[in-house]
Amino acid sequence: MADDSTPSVNLSAPVGSVDLGALDDEGNPYEIWPCHDCLPWHAEVILVEGVVLVREWHAVDCPQFRDLVKN
Ligand SMILES: [Zn+2]
Repeated sequence: MADDSTPSVNLSAPVGSVDLGALDDEGNPYEIWPCHDCLPWHAEVILVEGVVLVREWHAVDCPQFRDLVKN
C-alpha cells in the first residue's frame, strides 16, 4: 500500500474538509463523484442551520481540494 511517489494523497495523508451545497438554486441535487486525485476522499451529508450541505474530505495536498478552498 505504500506509494512513495504520492505520499501526500495516500490513505494516511492528513485530510481537510470543505462544505459544498447539496442542491442548486432550483433544488436539484448535485452529483458527487469520488475524487480521482486522492485516496482518503469521503463525504458526509450535514445540516447547518436547516441547510443540507455535503462535506467533502480530501487529502490536504489534493489538487482538487486546493482548487475548492482557494477562493
Ligand atoms: Zn481529493
